[in-house]
Amino acid sequence: MDPSFTLAWIGIGGNLGDARATVNEAIAHLARLPQSQLLRSSSLYRTAPIDSSGDDYVNAVALVSTSLTALDLLHALQAIELQHGRERPYRNAPRTLDLDVLMYGDAHLDSTELTVPHPRMAQRAFVLAPMLEIDEKVVIPGLGAARDFLDAIKDQPVRRL
Ligand code: ADP
Ligand code: MG
Repeated sequence: MDPSFTLAWIGIGGNLGDARATVNEAIAHLARLPQSQLLRSSSLYRTAPIDSSGDDYVNAVALVSTSLTALDLLHALQAIELQHGRERPYRNAPRTLDLDVLMYGDAHLDSTELTVPHPRMAQRAFVLAPMLEIDEKVVIPGLGAARDFLDAIKDQPVRRL
């Protein structure tokens, strides 16, 4: 692969309105990211909310190859969130669309604006299950094989749609 391109994993979630439609639209947006190619997107998964309220979530993950910097990628994701009318009335409020940078190559970034790998990704079945669907050998930088974290979260119900 071109060394100026980085493999980035993006977490997609929504739980307001027609969340399935929103997640599918988000994947279509990701296919149009600048300087990027959408390589894979997972099935959609339905999960009960964790640390949040409201209806069930619909989640998916996408794998992109991008020459955007990690911050430019985050800003592009935030622009997509805004197009879906996302508001942030309070922390962990229900939201139309949430797009997270889960991993950006093997980078470790830790600023208030962007922490990568996403700090809670290894504890979330709705992240691990779709990632492992795309690549069962995927490694979380600094943590190890994603599949090794499945056992600890087997009580979190996720249903593939
Ligand atoms: P969460 O996704 O944790 O439920 P938000 O989507 O409201 O919450 O994100 C809050 C802030 O998290 C954003 O303003 C963003 O700058 C920051 N942030 C830190 N790391 C990341 C990341 N890896 N992906 C997306 N946002 C991140
Ligand atoms: Mg987010």
